[in-house]
Amino acid sequence: MIGFTKNALEIISQRYLLKDAQGMAIETPKQLFERVAKCVAVVEKEDFMLWKQRFYKLMSNFYFLPNSPTLMNAGTRDGQLSACFVLPVEDSLNGIFTSLKNAALIHQSGGGTGFNFSKLRPKGSWIDASGGTSSGPLAFIKIFDVATEYVKQGGKRRGANMGILNVDHPDIEEFITSKSNSDAIKNFNLSVGITDAFMLAVQENKDWKLLDPASKEVRKTVKAAYLWQEIVNQAWNSGDPGLIFLDTINKHNPLPKSGEIQSTNPCGEVPLLDYESCNLGSINLSKMIKIVNGISSIDWEKLAETTRLAIRFLDNIIDANYYILPEIEQITKAHRKIGLGVMGWAEMLLLLKIPYASTKALLLAEELIKFIQGHSYKSSHDLAIEKGEFPEFRKSSHPQTFLLRNATCNSIAPTGSIAVIADASYSIEPLFALAYKRVGILNGITQTEINTPFINTMKQEKLWNKTLNEEVLKKGSVQHIKGVPEELKHLFRTSLEIPWKYHLLHQKAFQKFTDNAVSKTINLPENTTPETISDIYMNAWKYQLKGITIYRYGSKPGQVLQKCGPD
Ligand code: ADP
Repeated sequence: MIGFTKNALEIISQRYLLKDAQGMAIETPKQLFERVAKCVAVVEKEDFMLWKQRFYKLMSNFYFLPNSPTLMNAGTRDGQLSACFVLPVEDSLNGIFTSLKNAALIHQSGGGTGFNFSKLRPKGSWIDASGGTSSGPLAFIKIFDVATEYVKQGGKRRGANMGILNVDHPDIEEFITSKSNSDAIKNFNLSVGITDAFMLAVQENKDWKLLDPASKEVRKTVKAAYLWQEIVNQAWNSGDPGLIFLDTINKHNPLPKSGEIQSTNPCGEVPLLDYESCNLGSINLSKMIKIVNGISSIDWEKLAETTRLAIRFLDNIIDANYYILPEIEQITKAHRKIGLGVMGWAEMLLLLKIPYASTKALLLAEELIKFIQGHSYKSSHDLAIEKGEFPEFRKSSHPQTFLLRNATCNSIAPTGSIAVIADASYSIEPLFALAYKRVGILNGITQTEINTPFINTMKQEKLWNKTLNEEVLKKGSVQHIKGVPEELKHLFRTSLEIPWKYHLLHQKAFQKFTDNAVSKTINLPENTTPETISDIYMNAWKYQLKGITIYRYGSKPGQVLQKCGPD
């Protein structure tokens, strides 16, 4: 029997198990993993049974899980297995609605889509074909949003989108404030496409020109610092917009000859060219610990072996996949991008007794992700020798002496659902609270959870008692509880108790050795000021991050994770 938690079993039965026409599950959770393992092993030329067994163990031990569409659709007819897509949006009615249709098909299959809307002519521009004026990008983003609302993914979950508008587009002010009303544009994360030139203009308090996307004529001139303040105020107000740093992304684009990257997938962890798709998977770090003579340490050998098998798994998905459009199949198979990441980082730190808000944690983060990246590249190289390098390898900016099967190997995804299945902490995030209500993931059902490593540590320290249990359930924190030693208070600081610098520095540490990007939310307490958000966004650029997202507690209704207690 695989050790699923109650939450995991509920999510799996609602969303992941195959169902018959009456909605009854036709497989067990064990058969789910067998179905996925078989689908991934089928593309192997030799030793099918052996690979199937290895892939099965990789998942059923919760060492690694692939992204949701793989778990949901592997082995089904036309099973679409990738989470991440970017689609172009051309400046014509035909182009816009072709993208909308393609996005609907991707959402229906469980994937998420990213778009850069900057090619669209600004609101009020002349349209030759109709003799009227254009509605502008915001009107079309709203149409995409409504369409997303109504295309359920096989009745399982709503789609997700990233919408980007570049900072020199004439409609940028409207874009920045478009989510100030909490009902607006619910199914999009919005990010402003930022350039280095803009950041320098902000720093030097210069004018900034908004340009017609086609003719490049100046439509309006504003102060760069004014736009910056608008962005910061709105992010303070609602969490959106985030930023994506286009120059940093393109500096690291492994295939500049295939075009400039203009967008990422919905949560930002994969910058992609038009029509590219990427499948993701995450190693569960809480399972990569060994205990010798009562002392916990990272099991590097197990981590190397898991990385190697996970890379092969993700690479196989590219061939096992069903592609919704020929354009997507062509470019995805030409570049063979994959994104192996992690979950359970906060728990790994707890097991090692290292506080998240410490230099030691940051140094370990770098060492760990460097190790994973090194083994990912080594595995991709070995696969290139065994099965062939990715077709466009010669056109890529990778060193030509070291063959690779994949143009990219690593991404740090949010692991919103798969972390629940594996009972791991999300991605590289600190614990949100020691006890929390999880609302909404299953149609608004509320579930309360207390963190297991916390309980275990308190038991070991002989501090676990009824009062502590009740206090933690009430507040989700130990910071206010007398009798808990300072050292343990530091270890168990939660997301909102961790200074923002440490959130950001963790993102920086992981980004340093991640060829795609890192999805991270800088969670902030309610009383955070706009000035702090400005500092965070500015530092994110200086640190060469590829994007940045903040969230100030309480600034959006219906957030998925809520602290325990009276609020
Ligand atoms: P999961 O845990 O379900 O595998 P993540 O939370 O790690 O997924 O998100 C990874 C990527 O999967 C996102 O960046 C996005 O591209 C896609 N994704 C996540 N949630 C959705 C959704 N509801 N609809 C469509 N795509 C999604």
